[in-house]
Amino acid sequence: MPDNLTLLISSPEIVAAVQRLAQEIDRDCSDRSPVIVTVLKGAFIFAADLVRAMQTPIQRMEFVRFSSYGSAKISSGEVAVHMGLEPGSVLNQDVIVIEDIIDTGTTTAKVLSDLQEHQPRSLKLCTLLDKPDRRKVAVSIDYLGFTVPDRFIVGYGTDFNQRYRQLPAIYTLDEP
Ligand code: 5GP
Repeated sequence: MPDNLTLLISSPEIVAAVQRLAQEIDRDCSDRSPVIVTVLKGAFIFAADLVRAMQTPIQRMEFVRFSSYGSAKISSGEVAVHMGLEPGSVLNQDVIVIEDIIDTGTTTAKVLSDLQEHQPRSLKLCTLLDKPDRRKVAVSIDYLGFTVPDRFIVGYGTDFNQRYRQLPAIYTLDEP
């Protein structure tokens, strides 16, 4: 393991949180079959584990990609859509959005407002990590894995300059 990384959340802790979240979603979705919308790239591993832990039959999987311009560690507040939804893909559907990290909330707020324009029947938000200290835009989280401190996180799908996504645990990236 590179020595600039410090373990924050271990692999077994992630597995337990994913199981818990899957059970919460199953309980809420006993009479519905949701569309899962995964926000790329960071949430891809979390979403893959979460849907396999769920018993609820999923209507379809969709993927969107947004990006905030800025330096590698600090988001600028401007969010661009790289890959949106296909027209009609969530119309009148119960949608669960899967996020990796909510930091200032800017990206997630944009994702949710774009999704609302596609007229889902309901819209819920599931995030693995919440970093509330730097929140600028309020977002309501329905399913939460962990609250984390205001540190830069990598691993389990999240990156620094595209690296570290493959790590099975979550680390803080120490300043050089
Ligand atoms: P926002 O500030 O808009 O809530 O977050 C912008 C994006 O930056 C998020 O979608 C998330 O992917 C990324 N991000 C925020 N904090 C971190 C972090 O600590 N580590 C990594 N790898 N990405 C982060």
